[in-house]
Amino acid sequence: MSVVPVSPVYTPNPDRYEGIEYRRCGRSGIQLPLVSLGLWHNFGGVDTLENCRAMARTAFDLGITHFDLANNYGPPYGSAEETFGKILTKDLRPYRDELIISSKAGYDMWPGPYGDWGSRKYLVSSLDQSLKRMGLEYVDIFYHHRPDPDTPLEETMGALDFIVRSGRALYVGISNYHPKEARAAIQILHQLGTPCLISQPNYSLFDRWIERELIDVLAEEGVGCIVFSPLEQGILTNKYLHGIPADSRAGKPVTYLQPEDITAGTLEKVSHLDLLAKELNLSLAQMAIKWVLRQRVITSALIGASHPAQIEEIVAGVNQPALTKETLEKIENILSG
Ligand code: NDP
Repeated sequence: MSVVPVSPVYTPNPDRYEGIEYRRCGRSGIQLPLVSLGLWHNFGGVDTLENCRAMARTAFDLGITHFDLANNYGPPYGSAEETFGKILTKDLRPYRDELIISSKAGYDMWPGPYGDWGSRKYLVSSLDQSLKRMGLEYVDIFYHHRPDPDTPLEETMGALDFIVRSGRALYVGISNYHPKEARAAIQILHQLGTPCLISQPNYSLFDRWIERELIDVLAEEGVGCIVFSPLEQGILTNKYLHGIPADSRAGKPVTYLQPEDITAGTLEKVSHLDLLAKELNLSLAQMAIKWVLRQRVITSALIGASHPAQIEEIVAGVNQPALTKETLEKIENILSG
């Protein structure tokens, strides 16, 4: 798809808050849009700034107030935060108080023992670097990106508490934590007086692990849930039904989605889901997002995009009536078939 030219001056859509519904994040004061935009792919140093700006503007114009980043998004690492810093400077900084900007640390970021996992040393210095790259004084949400089996949970959660008390973040969250470790982390944060705002696990039609226990833990503890990769990185769209397009994620050289991840069995289910979506006058991408949002405990679906039109399509879909019981049953049949 060609890059949409952006005009030099940005004036946001005055009706942006009528474009999408917001859900309360657990038992907190924060509400998040049903769809949030992640910058893991397509916002790196290798990508075209004009397309990144067009996507961020489209999102904000549709009422998407939440942009999700991490220290290592790119490629190269750090460059998505630099891109977002440029987008803020060129377009969005006047609206800083209307935005929820998140970042994370927990995966490998720089060499040596202090650039990975969950020590206080790593988390605090990584966030300082992220703030510099984005040109921000604080982020709204800072996450520990994945559990660290070797660092005491008290140290990692203590670092999150310190990060809030030192003014570097307003809220904290955990990502990729399984139910037991999530509950323990939430309880430590509660004792420290810095409640856990949100958990960020993966969840889609094809990966439903959070339904077993995590969702109940989060509901009981009053913690929000934003689910990443709800389209399985694009597999839950019709784009791979006839091969791997060169401009798709699986077609690009630096990516976590390999062509061999898209098996014949997966594509068979995708084609049945696609037909069902068509019967409902939805695209498969729209149906897949509506499906993750069918449960109130899911605060927001955290999507990625490579083009502004994809964001428009998803938001148009969430504004359609909810999936009926009959449709949900048909989906179950396809998934178990
Ligand atoms: P998705 O599952 O939403 O996949 C995004 C891809 O789906 C896009 O790049 C695009 O593929 C395709 N797509 C999106 N909308 C449409 C549409 N309307 N029609 C057709 N195709 C569409 O999510 P991601 O895997 O990108 O993850 C989203 C965010 O979640 C990340 O940016 C990040 O913020 C977060 N995340 C967090 C992780 C964690 O460990 N906490 C791990 C992974 C992600 P294409 O590029 O081929 O056009």
